[in-house]
Amino acid sequence: LARLRDRLARSGSPLGARLLAVLSRDHLSEDDWDELEETLLLADVGPGPTGELIDALRVRVRVEGLQDPAQVRTLLREQLLALVDPALDRELATAPTTGEDGTVTPAVLLVVGVNGTGKTTTIGKLARLLVAEGRSVVLGAADTFRAAAADQLETWGSRVGVPTVRADRDGADPASVAFDAVRTGKAAGVDVVVVDTAGRLQNKAGLMDELGKITRVIGKEAPLTEVLLVLDATTGQNGLNQARVFGEVAGVTGIVLTKLDGTAKGGIVVAVQRELGVPVKLVGLGEGPDDLAPFDPEAFVDGLLH
Ligand code: GDP
Repeated sequence: LARLRDRLARSGSPLGARLLAVLSRDHLSEDDWDELEETLLLADVGPGPTGELIDALRVRVRVEGLQDPAQVRTLLREQLLALVDPALDRELATAPTTGEDGTVTPAVLLVVGVNGTGKTTTIGKLARLLVAEGRSVVLGAADTFRAAAADQLETWGSRVGVPTVRADRDGADPASVAFDAVRTGKAAGVDVVVVDTAGRLQNKAGLMDELGKITRVIGKEAPLTEVLLVLDATTGQNGLNQARVFGEVAGVTGIVLTKLDGTAKGGIVVAVQRELGVPVKLVGLGEGPDDLAPFDPEAFVDGLLH
């Protein structure tokens, strides 16, 4: 697989072009089937799902006696869509709740993931999306380990017009910043509080302690409505390993896949959903403030096949 990966990297050929090249042949030979399989593997669909898809496709092509590449392509689209699982609920839980006494409790979104995956940028873009939907938002900078992290979040916040709660000193307790952010949001009556966290994977027990404490402390003020894991789509197996660890320690409810722009590795959507058993809810498609979108399985599969 590493060899195939290198080949694709050298060829620079995107997934869609390769799939179309195979599927535009008059008749699919054994080599063509191999190439189809290889193309899906290279796109990080993962060996399990790729094998299932190819087997199912071959059976249907044989049973239905299909010859026409266009029909095979339609079937491939169907199978890919099934792998992405369009029935999954991808709605973000961003609605505040109102208690019997009329008090409003904001929705709280905790954002986790390794540094460099695009966590801060994603929170900025997400705040913008929420504001555009008419929600009021407070950001919490609970990544207190990198001095620049809170600054970066605050910059995004002011760009989008939402306040950021941050520690008053470097190295403060992340859980206490998270708590402050939620309390501030609640006192101000906002709809949503989005909390950034540090993404240090060196020490799994440490990460688990830290996220566990943040979660418990937030729970004193408001229920946690989402734990979003940010993964970089271009990191392949590394991203899957991160998914595994955060899945174990953080009770992830949704995945944000960043940097899907300009990668031929979109198949990672399938692999990561399988790994975690939770849906990809948002995708990052660039570095700008508008480059975050709800994940749309149909559009995604059409994108793969174009
Ligand atoms: P963090 O360390 O996880 O908070 O990562 P940052 O938010 O600082 O992002 C790391 C880099 O990735 C920055 O240069 C971002 O502009 C870039 N980035 C984030 N999301 C995307 C995306 O969807 N597409 C692209 N092309 N770049 C992104």
